[in-house]
Amino acid sequence: MIEWTDLRGSLHNHTTWSDGHHPIEDVAAYAIEIGCDYWAITDHSKSSFQAHGLDAARLREQIKAVAAHNQKLADSGEEFRLLAGSEVDILKERLDFDNDLLAELDVVVASLHVAGSDEADNTNRLIRAALNPYVHMLGHLTGRLLLEREAYKVNQQAVIDACAETGTWIELNANPYRFDMDWRLWFYAKSKGVKCVINCDAHRNEHAGFLRLGAGIARKGWLEKADVINALPLKELKKALQLKRNRVK
Ligand SMILES: [Zn+2]
Ligand SMILES: [Zn+2]
Repeated sequence: MIEWTDLRGSLHNHTTWSDGHHPIEDVAAYAIEIGCDYWAITDHSKSSFQAHGLDAARLREQIKAVAAHNQKLADSGEEFRLLAGSEVDILKERLDFDNDLLAELDVVVASLHVAGSDEADNTNRLIRAALNPYVHMLGHLTGRLLLEREAYKVNQQAVIDACAETGTWIELNANPYRFDMDWRLWFYAKSKGVKCVINCDAHRNEHAGFLRLGAGIARKGWLEKADVINALPLKELKKALQLKRNRVK
């Protein structure tokens, strides 16, 4: 079964560029200190204006900042790497960024932040995101916030089926107020060959500790190390991040 110590990093995290509390350099230093191999920077996209989402120009600036910091790390002999990414909003008809920009990113998490009351519509939005060749994973599938907000109405089985067909991963959001997707569905997802990514959706460095909680929830879903993408070492992860994109080439 998956152990939290198998996890090499988190693929969904925020910095001061959007609503996180630490700048990129501090996030990297902390991830190195706790022994991670990589850490993705996936700040919000522009439609999440309440979370200071980045527009295309800012995101391109951030991609450069991440590359510059990685160069510094490489020059100092450090093997840890940041990955440039986005938590891109799933809007009504499209994603918040065009495919040409998504293609410039190492990691793309697509999340529904504002859902409607219609189950079919919410489900179709998630399925359309899964069909996008540049979307690696769907973030917090139902938006559930424990003690605060019910899950959006979503046909999760239909979304899992679409992820299976398209090679899209599903996040297990390890924030203890989310634990989304619900652990009872992982058994089905695994049976369809859908991979899990245990992400801490860190807004502060100490949220890295959520990875341990996430691995515990993944165990309730009977997940093993081979089912979890961020148990891969950096080199293998980079290959896995190309799989879906190679299909459209
Ligand atoms: Zn989110
Ligand atoms: Zn997030």
